[in-house]
Formats: sequence, C-alpha cells, structure tokens
Amino acid sequence: MNSTTPDILVVGAGIAGLTTALALRHEGASVTVVDQSQPGTEASWAGGGILCPLYAWRYPDAVLALAARGMRDYPALIESLTGDTDPEHRVTGMRILDPVGAEESAAQIGERLARYGIRHQWLDSPDAGRASLVLPEVANVRNPRLLQALRETAEAHGIEIHANRRCEQVIARAGRFERIETSAGRMRAERLVVAAGAWSEPLIPQAREDSVFPVRGQMLRMEPHGNSRLETIVMDEGVYLIPRVDGSIIVGSTVERAGFDKTVDMAVQQALHRKAIECWPDLAEASVTHRWAGLRPGSSDEVPILGEHPSLEGLWVNTGGYRNGLAMAPATATFLTDLITGRSPALDPAPYRVARILSA
Ligand SMILES: Cc1cc2nc3c(=O)[nH]c(=O)nc-3n(C[C@H](O)[C@H](O)[C@H](O)COP(=O)(O)OP(=O)(O)OC[C@H]3O[C@@H](n4cnc5c(N)ncnc54)[C@H](O)[C@@H]3O)c2cc1C
Repeated sequence: MNSTTPDILVVGAGIAGLTTALALRHEGASVTVVDQSQPGTEASWAGGGILCPLYAWRYPDAVLALAARGMRDYPALIESLTGDTDPEHRVTGMRILDPVGAEESAAQIGERLARYGIRHQWLDSPDAGRASLVLPEVANVRNPRLLQALRETAEAHGIEIHANRRCEQVIARAGRFERIETSAGRMRAERLVVAAGAWSEPLIPQAREDSVFPVRGQMLRMEPHGNSRLETIVMDEGVYLIPRVDGSIIVGSTVERAGFDKTVDMAVQQALHRKAIECWPDLAEASVTHRWAGLRPGSSDEVPILGEHPSLEGLWVNTGGYRNGLAMAPATATFLTDLITGRSPALDPAPYRVARILSA
C-alpha cells in the first residue's frame, strides 16, 4: 500500500474516530483521518467527561457492557498517550443523590452494578427513604484535552489527519466500498470507518432517516470563590457537577431534540444553575465563566452502531455513542478493531449491528 492510499480511512476525528484510528494503527494498518472541522471540537469536546453512564443500571446490557469495559480500559489508554497534553484523568468517584427510581429497588440496582463489576456503596439505608449511592471508582477526564492528546498521539504514530476536509459522499461499487469524495478531492482506501458522530447518517448508504440523530446537551462552567472544593462528582435529578483539577465545576446537562442547533437557551441555563447550587450550596457565589452546547450522536435504541455494512464490504461504522461515547470509547475501538482484523470480539456483535438501522 503506498502512502497516498492508506489501508483505512476514518471519517470523523472525535473520540470514536481517533481511538479507532489508533487501535487500527497498533495492528499495523496505515490510517488516514478526515474531519470537516478541527479534530475533537464537536460532541467529544462538549461532553462532561464522566467515565461511567449516569444511573448506569438503567441502560441496556449492550451499553453497560461497553461502558464497564471502557472504565477498565481507560488507565491503559491514558498511559499510551504521548505528547505534552495532560488529559487530567482522575478518579473522583460519583455520588448519586436520587438513585432509586419509581420502578426499581436498591437490590436490583446493586445486582446490576455488581454484574458489570462497578463497585458501589450505599450511604444511609436504601430502605429508609432517600438514600444516596456512591460509585467510588468512577473517573472523569478533561475531554477537550484528551482529544488534543489523542490527536498528538495519533500523529506521532504516523496517522495522517486532515482537518477542514469534509467527506461529501461515500462511493461503493459491486458491493464493496471504493472511495470517498471530499471537499478536497477523492480519497481511496481498502476500508472506511464512518465515525462522524451526529452527522453519520448520510454517510451510511441505506440508513433509515432519523436512525442517527443529534441530541443537544447544554453545559456551563462555574468557578467557586475562595477555598471551596468539590471532591467528587455529584448527581441529582439528572443534573451533575463535575470537579476539574483546577477547582472549576462543569454542570450539565439537558437532553434535547433540536436538530443541528448548538445555541444555548438562557432559561434552561438558569435552571441548570439553580439546580447546581441546590446540589452544592458553595456554588451560590460562584461565577459562570462559560456556557455551551454539543450534539450527541443518538440512535433510536440508544445502543451504539458498530460493525460492517451488511451489503457493502469494507464499509464500517462506529457511531451512536449518545450519552456515553467518551466512557465507552476504548472498549468500542477495541471491539471494532477486533471485528475488522477478523479476531473474535469480547462481546456479542448482534446488538450493535449496522443492519438494524438500514431500510429493508
Ligand atoms: C453536553 C454533553 C455531555 C456529555 N457528557 C458525557 C460524559 O460525561 N461522558 C460520556 O461518556 N459521554 C458524554 N457525552 C457524549 C459524548 O461526548 C459523545 O457520545 C461522543 O463524544 C461522541 O463522539 P464521536 O466521535 O462519535 O462524535 P463527535 O465528537 O461529534 O465527532 C464527530 C466528528 O466527525 C466530524 N464530521 C462529521 N461529519 C463529517 C463529514 N461529513 N466529513 C468529515 N468529518 C465529519 C465532526 O466534525 C466531528 O469532529 C456528552 C455529550 C454532550 C453533548
């Protein structure tokens, strides 16, 4: 294979694309990545960086299995990064103030977490009204920096990354992937991985309308005054507070179907702000230094879409990370790389298959 025709082209330099590119590179493949914008500036930048699903026990097995593996695989991913950017990966634990919903018991929650190896402790008795749950091994990462570090590492390993190059069309011929048409001309490779986040659907031939869609999440960043420090992630009624190494707090989030619109809504922002203060009253005097929104790649069954296109050989998909794309990323990349290289993956591929989003 010459240098202009890589073994593998990856569309999308978010967490999904970059971790997959690196995993494939480690297998010896030559890999080129294209992104329509700057790498790592979409959902993977906007996210909170909690490396565990929120109310983890409520997710389907297919998500929990990847997330639990992702949690275990993160230290090795962080260890493998080269370059000067510190992604601030840190175990802070997570305290959930309202763990028990109307249709579940504390015992069911404990059983489900234990099945996936996620350690937990109840504070107060779960039978005595409002108990809270602590997941002591949950880590968080400063995701914009993680993405920067992944980019540096990818380039250091010889992965070519083309920023500001949009993939406009995926061309297949005789049941095989052939090439992509981009804003800077055509590009060929043996295989393609579509990892274009919320924008993936038009790049997957025969994908049903609305099978991959953007789900907006709004966030804000607060700087507490004085010496107040939050030591752990706190979560209540769907709102979470994430302590960063520099003492700032990331507050999120919302789950909104608003198309590809990344604007923030001040009424929603104020509600998040109020809830953050309720969770941790030390934030009452804190200033809000940043507000933003990002677009998660949603899928209709909330399970990622991972695998080869059933009728187009060489066309692979890694999208639909939805609310847990950062947490699952190392496991997702390994899973897809196992499939691409013909190894038997650690998880059953059936729930993730591409066929389920295609029109009949
Ligand atoms: C507010 C918010 C909070 C979140 N919090 C968490 C959390 O705490 N923990 C967690 O695990 N997950 C979280 N997530 C989810 C997580 O961020 C996403 O699931 C994950 O980042 C998706 O990664 P991705 O690589 O698939 O998509 P993206 O990061 O969106 O990357 C897709 C890339 O593809 C590029 N692209 C798109 N179309 C084209 C094209 N045609 N040609 C070339 N390039 C293209 C884009 O420019 C982009 O860089 C959160 C998300 C949001 C929005």
